[in-house]
Amino acid sequence: MKKLALLFTLALSTLSNAWVIDGLGDYKFEALSSQTYVMHGPLGEPSVQNYGFMNNPGIIVGKQGVIVVDPGSTLQVGNKVLEEIEKISKKPIVAVFNTHVHGDHWLGNQAIVAKYPNVKIYAHPKMIAQAKDGESDLWLGVMNTLTEGLSKDTVAVYPTDATSHLQKIVVAGETFIVHNDITGEAHTDNDIMIEHVASKTLFLGDNDLMQRFGRFDGTSSMHGNITALQYATNLNLSHYVPGHGPSGNADNAVKPFLDYLIAIQEESKKGYKEDLADYEIKPFADKRLADYRDWHGYDAQLGKHINKMLLEIEALDI
Ligand SMILES: [Zn+2]
Repeated sequence: MKKLALLFTLALSTLSNAWVIDGLGDYKFEALSSQTYVMHGPLGEPSVQNYGFMNNPGIIVGKQGVIVVDPGSTLQVGNKVLEEIEKISKKPIVAVFNTHVHGDHWLGNQAIVAKYPNVKIYAHPKMIAQAKDGESDLWLGVMNTLTEGLSKDTVAVYPTDATSHLQKIVVAGETFIVHNDITGEAHTDNDIMIEHVASKTLFLGDNDLMQRFGRFDGTSSMHGNITALQYATNLNLSHYVPGHGPSGNADNAVKPFLDYLIAIQEESKKGYKEDLADYEIKPFADKRLADYRDWHGYDAQLGKHINKMLLEIEALDI
């Protein structure tokens, strides 16, 4: 009976032609354009159920090879991402971009490098420095704990090439423009946003989030994040890929998070003027943000976001 069930599962996963994660869904690369594809990851926190997979790996299929953005969170997830990439194109992977230092986006580098040892991996210089200076150990630990050891054997494979603002990178016949240091700090102090020129696509990393909120950690700036999203929108591109959640155009895949941040900013400014504490501001913000209550992490993050915004407003004294 067990064998039959296994056969049935195998048959189903072949039928769906995707990475099937029990209880979560089917994960495969979806086309944004004739050259660009995104595998939109689960929206939760790393867990046994999702193997630690939670981000949006992206690929660009060039004439002579494939370029990958953020290949996932562990060796095992990276291998699955690689498997799904090969269903789209068998061309060699010639370059990888890592959008920022958070390990859910880049610890999958290991899987790509195991197959393509000479692949170039691009990231912000501060990302590379911080990854080597403890962040990778921190994230390896997070993944190992939350997946209860499913990420075993994952090691940090660091980016090889530091980017600079508006750097033009031509690889596999494709042109990319790297946008970083727009504000110094946004989701982190080491974010890059990657523009694929031909398809007019922008990969925003966690500067943009959809249907899922995250933390603003020690190196982040909510004001900077607002500026980065306004900058991204002003690039007037066709496709926008957030770090988590569905891709789309500027209106349906950037504006929602931008509007959220602006609402937090406005409510916090009002509260600051009236000398209110973060918990006193929260009910006003919550009322205004009713549309966001079903985003993953809303309850856990709203108070923290207001607290962080208040600290920034205080520091700026605006
Ligand atoms: Zn992040």
